Amino acid sequence: MGRVYNFSAGPAVLPEEVLKEAAEEMLDYKGTGMSVMEMSHRSKAYEEIIKTAEQDLRDLMNIPDNYKVLFLQGGASQQFAMIPMNLMKNGVADYIITGQWAKKAYQEAQMYGKANAIASSADATFSYIPDCSDLPISEDADYVYICENNTIYGTKFKTLPNTKGKTLVADVSSCFLSEPVDVTKYGVIYGGVQKNIGPAGVVIVIIREDLITEDTLPGTPTMLKYKIHADNASLYNTPPAYGIYICGKVFKWLKKMGGLAEMKKKNEEKAKILYDFLDESKMFKGTVRPEDRSLMNVPFVTGNEELDAKFVKEAKAAGFENLKGHRSVGGMRASIYNAMPKEGVEKLVEFMKEFEKNNA
Ligand SMILES: *Cc1c(COP(=O)(O)O)cnc(C)c1O
Repeated sequence: MGRVYNFSAGPAVLPEEVLKEAAEEMLDYKGTGMSVMEMSHRSKAYEEIIKTAEQDLRDLMNIPDNYKVLFLQGGASQQFAMIPMNLMKNGVADYIITGQWAKKAYQEAQMYGKANAIASSADATFSYIPDCSDLPISEDADYVYICENNTIYGTKFKTLPNTKGKTLVADVSSCFLSEPVDVTKYGVIYGGVQKNIGPAGVVIVIIREDLITEDTLPGTPTMLKYKIHADNASLYNTPPAYGIYICGKVFKWLKKMGGLAEMKKKNEEKAKILYDFLDESKMFKGTVRPEDRSLMNVPFVTGNEELDAKFVKEAKAAGFENLKGHRSVGGMRASIYNAMPKEGVEKLVEFMKEFEKNNA
């Protein structure tokens, strides 16, 4: 069997070129006589890999010098604790609840201080992004927290919230490197890489230097202090070395593709093919308010659970994998990350048209 079109929300599709290159280097990385998996993270060869990865990410996102780039472990979920432990100097933070990931981060933060839910779209199953232009931001909030792209519900902040001068912290796991961002608008940008960048096991944290201090909550484990990782250039202990190596290859691939402005164009084109079809179809419907639609995760339903299940099953048999919606919402979801080729989306829409005709 050949490769399928993989619409998984994560771990997700990676560029074929990157996988082939990694395969070629598997047994002997550039004449070292060993795989990157077998290599000391203190070796010259590995130092070159991690330094180059960081520089390429800095180039792609235009990251200013007063921000650190950290390659950490524990997934995005570990950041739910690490952020309050390191940033809650006043013991207060404001959370905007736009889905399950934001809610989990909010619940975790409650263990460390006063976390306030200052806005939510729970009233309509998180199908929209609330108006965040004039929220009741707490006077003494250490930061305002958002999940910028909601992987499960398929919404995306098109405008960042007005934080009234407070530090913005954003989980960008599922929109990382999908379009250009102005890093200076954030205190912390972080994401697990298994959605849009690389293999599971790496989380990237981009953090403004003044937020990295010794002054963490009492009892914060050494491994959960940003400072220890920043002071040691992500090599305090053994990093997820092979994962970072693959991320580095994806950064090179993105540069070759023309960078993030070009990716945004491509991603808009791909998403439009699918959304245009959803808007005209009599059977399939998108579930998100149009102005808040994500370019990366596209949930849709037929309105009939049996028909949904039939669609997912027949799509799988035709080589379109992982279209089942998240277990909490049902229906379908097509994740169309950077590495999903346009043909994948075109062929999916053709398949949906056929399905609609045959099941009308
Ligand atoms: C997948 C996901 C997470 C959880 O990531 P883990 O690496 O599994 O902890 C958190 N936030 C968002 C937006 C996600 O898509």
